[in-house]
Amino acid sequence: MNDQRTILIRYDEIGLKGQNRKYFEKILLKNIKRALPGDKGIVYRIPRGRIMLDLSESVATACADQLSFIPGIASYSVGTSVNPDFDEMAALGVQWIEPLLKPGETLRFCVRARRSAKTFPATSPEINFEVGSRIMSRLGEKGLVVDIKNSDFTLEIEVGNNEIIMFDNRHPGLCGLPVGSSGDILCMLSGGIDSPVAAYLMACRGCRVHFVFYDNQPFLGRGGYEKVLKLSKIINRYQGRAKLFVVPFQDVQVAIRDHCKEENRVVLYRRMMYRIADAISRQYQLQGLVTGESLGQVASQTLENLAAVTCVTSMNIFRPLIGMNKEGIIKEAKKIGTYEVSIEPQPDCCSVFMPTRPVTRSKIPVLERDEEKILLEKLQVEAIANIETIYLDDL
Ligand code: ATP
Ligand code: MG
Repeated sequence: MNDQRTILIRYDEIGLKGQNRKYFEKILLKNIKRALPGDKGIVYRIPRGRIMLDLSESVATACADQLSFIPGIASYSVGTSVNPDFDEMAALGVQWIEPLLKPGETLRFCVRARRSAKTFPATSPEINFEVGSRIMSRLGEKGLVVDIKNSDFTLEIEVGNNEIIMFDNRHPGLCGLPVGSSGDILCMLSGGIDSPVAAYLMACRGCRVHFVFYDNQPFLGRGGYEKVLKLSKIINRYQGRAKLFVVPFQDVQVAIRDHCKEENRVVLYRRMMYRIADAISRQYQLQGLVTGESLGQVASQTLENLAAVTCVTSMNIFRPLIGMNKEGIIKEAKKIGTYEVSIEPQPDCCSVFMPTRPVTRSKIPVLERDEEKILLEKLQVEAIANIETIYLDDL
């Protein structure tokens, strides 16, 4: 076996694109290049419908692992180039399969060839047969059987214009669209379980997700800030180039506590969060807001209370978790690596000065009258003026 490897990257939804497929391919390629080290002599190619990377064996596994963090990839495989010779192909197959055989046990296998260039003289079924039967003649007596439907081991052969690559592995990607192909948006990130998952789901829809955190350090300490830094860093690994805006929120909360009706507090805090997120989005030309809200999960997430926060902005609002239950959200959080950080105990600013009976069916005119009692615009302008902006790639 030579010490060169080729990684084959299969697209997810880009494969369904027509006219503008090149646009998506280019963005995915850019994202891959950004995620992989620049000094390892990797050669990038885009033969039709695929991205391929030629690189040395010593860096192949580490580079392949990085690909599992990049949205837009359906799957990827690390492969080895072979000559257009059935004996040579079968010999490599034997080399891979033989160590998997155990005395007294059967191993089901199949060969799957795919011809992206029709210049190769044999068809895919012919290649499967030629390579498969050669391997069987060597290993059939050691327990190897052919099973096309339920194979334990699939030998894949990709036949291109001037090359043949063989694979003994296929790893699932994150699927979806490449980050940046849809545009930039802003996620309200709280430090809880839900909002990081919401951000991640939007990244997989091609968005670069920036973050805003409403911080109440004087009352809650630095714990929330540290937690959100960690969470946004984890999500940024899936996308890169995101910003985190930290908004000092204590003055807003104190004003609402001191002047507005106790039962309305949580919804009023949240209306301020939405207004400030709206202003940040406009300043940075972001095209929507994302939250981790899920219908009915807590008092602030009833239909009435969601309407009461939605109406303060005309931005797109994305709530990718709206129809999910907590168990499903937790499963996602574990998968993306945010769960362990999210469950570190730390109160969120929404629970500061918590009313004993928060309103579940708020009426917008009632909230508006309550807001007349505070210097809403002044508070908003001051909070925005004191935003800390963090470039997550720099951390
Ligand atoms: P999470 O698990 O994401 O904290 P939650 O179930 O605790 O959500 P809420 O506290 O009502 O629900 O918050 C709903 C959403 O509001 C969050 O998912 C998040 O998008 C946003 N949010 C709440 N608190 C903050 C905060 N301090 N900073 C930024 N966004 C927040
Ligand atoms: Mg929360």
